[in-house]
Amino acid sequence: MKKQLIAGNWKMNGSSVANEALLKALVAGINSATCHVAVCVPAPYLAQVQGLVAGTGIDLGAQDVSQHESGAFTGEVSAAMLREFGARYCLVGHSERRQYHGETDAAVAVKAQRALAAGITPIVCVGETLAEREAGRTEEIVKRQLAAVIHTNGHCISEIVVAYEPVWAIGTGKTASPQEAQHVHAVLRSQLRAATEQADRMLILYGGSMNAANAAQLLSQDDIDGGLVGGASLKAADFLSIIAAAH
Ligand code: PEP
Repeated sequence: MKKQLIAGNWKMNGSSVANEALLKALVAGINSATCHVAVCVPAPYLAQVQGLVAGTGIDLGAQDVSQHESGAFTGEVSAAMLREFGARYCLVGHSERRQYHGETDAAVAVKAQRALAAGITPIVCVGETLAEREAGRTEEIVKRQLAAVIHTNGHCISEIVVAYEPVWAIGTGKTASPQEAQHVHAVLRSQLRAATEQADRMLILYGGSMNAANAAQLLSQDDIDGGLVGGASLKAADFLSIIAAAH
């Protein structure tokens, strides 16, 4: 059976002192985790967290990557730079990036390509807004978002991780029911099957107010292969409970 992945998205939170305390508590509590675990941290803390997770089995992730390789792109961080600081994963196309920074499907697809070229696994986020769900457009939206990434990345698509994150569930305390989430995951799995023979071994994570109380049910669905966890990843006890619910 494939191992699930529980990835924390710290968003724009943390400090040197808080990061050290959180990682120490995670490392102390994680002993027999059967799943893969990663933390996606703000770029300035990559070096610090690289040191804190070394040899612990916790992988390091970034939260965004430039769609450019290098050059005159002030403020951007390239995939090669992330790799130099030990990033194993990088979030790509998080809804907060799409919403606040105007990231298009095409830009997200190129970011995934840059990450792959640097040896980083992109965690490609897709998801519908509340208005889109209420208009019955959930499948159309997530398929369109994933199609762009498939189109740009060709046979390398089997190397990505997908995260289904309904926008209305992120940071709101509202979670998709396990059945609602499973339905969308199955849609995404079939889309991946049409693109690669490796679709069944690929990971499709669920994200959106996953917490200690709802993780087990979500993670027991056939096509849910792990979680992308925002708020609850900042509290060691909560994140450890989610990790314990995964397999
Ligand atoms: C996220 O930011 O990817 C996320 C899922 O956040 P939260 O768990 O807080 O809803």
